[in-house]
Amino acid sequence: APIPVPANEPVRDYAPGSPERARIEAELDRQLGMKVEVPLVIGGEKVSTSTTRDMVMPHRHSHVTGVAHQAGEAEVAKALAEAERARGPWAAMPFEDRAAIFLRAARLLEDEFRDKLNAATMLGQSKTVYQAEIDSACELIDFLRFNVHYLEGIYANQPISPSSAVWNRVEYRPLDGFVFAITPFNFTAIAANLPSAPALCGNTVIWKPASTAILSGHYIMELFEAAGLPPGVINFLPGASSVIGAPIMADARLGGVHFTGSTSTFKSLWRQASANLDNYRAYPRLVGETGGKDFVVAHPSAELETLTVALLRGAFEYQGQKCSAASRAYIPDNLWPQLRERLADGLTELGTGDVRDFSNFLGAVIDKHAFADHKAAIDAAKAAIGSGVAEVIGGEYDDSVGYFVRPTIIVATDPNYPSMVEELFGPILTIYVYPEAEFEQTLQLCDESSPYALTGAIFAEDRQAVVTAVEQLRFAAGNFYINDKPTGAVVGQQPFGGGRASGTNDKAGSMWNLIRWLSPRTIKENF
Ligand code: GLU
Repeated sequence: APIPVPANEPVRDYAPGSPERARIEAELDRQLGMKVEVPLVIGGEKVSTSTTRDMVMPHRHSHVTGVAHQAGEAEVAKALAEAERARGPWAAMPFEDRAAIFLRAARLLEDEFRDKLNAATMLGQSKTVYQAEIDSACELIDFLRFNVHYLEGIYANQPISPSSAVWNRVEYRPLDGFVFAITPFNFTAIAANLPSAPALCGNTVIWKPASTAILSGHYIMELFEAAGLPPGVINFLPGASSVIGAPIMADARLGGVHFTGSTSTFKSLWRQASANLDNYRAYPRLVGETGGKDFVVAHPSAELETLTVALLRGAFEYQGQKCSAASRAYIPDNLWPQLRERLADGLTELGTGDVRDFSNFLGAVIDKHAFADHKAAIDAAKAAIGSGVAEVIGGEYDDSVGYFVRPTIIVATDPNYPSMVEELFGPILTIYVYPEAEFEQTLQLCDESSPYALTGAIFAEDRQAVVTAVEQLRFAAGNFYINDKPTGAVVGQQPFGGGRASGTNDKAGSMWNLIRWLSPRTIKENF
């Protein structure tokens, strides 16, 4: 019988006085009161090493949530051996049984694990409760359930013409090697999906989590173990990229890389794959979602209130640390005076601070490097007033307690001002005000001025303007929004991913992604 068709996991609102609010507060306090020691997990075994790294809370950097053991050469070798050992039995396990494990994980995440993972994401990655809920609870549950649903559809598909004389069939094998999953700090759901999607397809995985998101990674491993994932299927390997990357990329059995992170790291993985080509048993699949310089273009007919809310939410939710975040906007001069006023008022209302205080809209940026980058960009913009920049709205920062950068808008007079074209990955939105008559030229500018193509949005009440933008910006974004913010893609509704410098566009949580982890075999039988 077919596996039940999934529905998106409902978002809980954590209103004051609600049972879920009481539970998450208790869990936050429990986690704040303890120090976790995070082991590596290799072949199902919890492994300690001689090197550890403190896990620090971005919004209160004096607070250490625990220590994470770091992989060295020996652990990398062990992980490679375990991924190989587990490969045969896991690939031979029937799809229904593999699926049942991940459906069980989704079920456990509905209740027991929900608070644990949400709290870890809040404390470790500085997400507000809402941002944690839509990520580590809802999106992750959706990834787990929808992947099973899509994979079931792929397996059922035999795209060959029937023949009466011979029996032709396509067998959807996993890859002929293990998968290397390298995951980002900004989404717990993505961190779990990158190893679990290839694993669901029958592959074994070595997972290197971001060094700034190990706490939530640890609980993801606990979740998979509780759901019954056999030892060695996903091997958890926190540690330095400089230690882990090279030996794994050089291994003859590398079947694929599932990556989300920076464009420069992804390019370096391609270079390493190219350098090792003669080493590999098979061509590895390199699947990546990388940077973005996501745009909002407003037409002179845009509705002001919708645009204001979309810019504030699209640019500043989770401190702008989403690959999809609105980071450049093109606004016509007829709308600018009123929009400026609304945005400036809006900025003053977005509380920035500790995520344990549920009234804050922004937490801290992820670490001291991110803080330094944003500080430098804000200082540079202030210094450029009069030469490329008209004004900086907001622009405050303070790292005395946590890495806090208040939401900031840079109004650029030069459409190629650095923060208009280069990714910053933080709470900084750059706006260019264009002459209202130059809508079409602005679309062209938007298309050509950035190497990225992840997300983008057009705001217009005039339908012809929408049609023109959809056509002219055809390759400027893999996820395109009409009168909506460019963030918050929902699994099963808006398959997510971009092209150009933003990635291989293999759409997370979709059949296009899962197909990359399968290597079909065609079988012809004569009777
Ligand atoms: N899927 C997320 C969104 O639509 C962004 C993912 C990312 O930042 O990598 O907002």
